[in-house]
Amino acid sequence: MATHKGECFCGTVQVEVSGEPEGMGYCHCQSCRSWSGGPVNAFTLWKPAAVRITAGAEQVGMFQKTQVSQRQYCKKCGGHLMTTHPPFGLIDVFAATLPTLAFNPGLHVNYAETVLPMRDGLPKLRDFPTELGGSGERMRE
Ligand SMILES: [Zn+2]
Ligand SMILES: [Zn+2]
Repeated sequence: MATHKGECFCGTVQVEVSGEPEGMGYCHCQSCRSWSGGPVNAFTLWKPAAVRITAGAEQVGMFQKTQVSQRQYCKKCGGHLMTTHPPFGLIDVFAATLPTLAFNPGLHVNYAETVLPMRDGLPKLRDFPTELGGSGERMRE
């Protein structure tokens, strides 16, 4: 089984994912933008069993603003690691956290909130897919 290792900005927190992600893409929501400091969040989604913190677990902080997202970061360097989504049963280990994983995005979510339109031909969902409780509605690029 393929494994990929990642770490926070200072390297204290080490994470490892195994197998294949459940999905990959870009989130354009205002929350991701505000928390990440970037115009979009490149996500890779994993079942919780596929994600392990292998070092520095005591330095992992968490901030939860909404029911949907538990945002995790390193308390030492402030570097962002991943976001757990309890209602979806999935963890977004940020693509930037996993340098060896080939990032193959499949869709864009929360595109209604975009500040960085991306004309790459991939589906652009207004909010979330229906299986995650969204409208599933597509938008033009
Ligand atoms: Zn750190
Ligand atoms: Zn988002």
